[in-house]
Amino acid sequence: MRIVPGPYQTRAHHWLILHGRYVCVARKPRCEVCKIADLCPSRELFLGA
Ligand code: SF4
Repeated sequence: MRIVPGPYQTRAHHWLILHGRYVCVARKPRCEVCKIADLCPSRELFLGA
């Protein structure tokens, strides 16, 4: 709630669920196609970069 502006918060909730379902999947995150990889502290861990 600190990061996402108020008007986007309801939609952002659903976007994050979909992101977890289709991109940032638990067993093998798809960091190579992730649109928010530049913001993610875990990217280097999964890409090995
Ligand atoms: S870069 Fe981060 S948010 Fe994106 S898929 Fe990888 S672990 Fe998930």
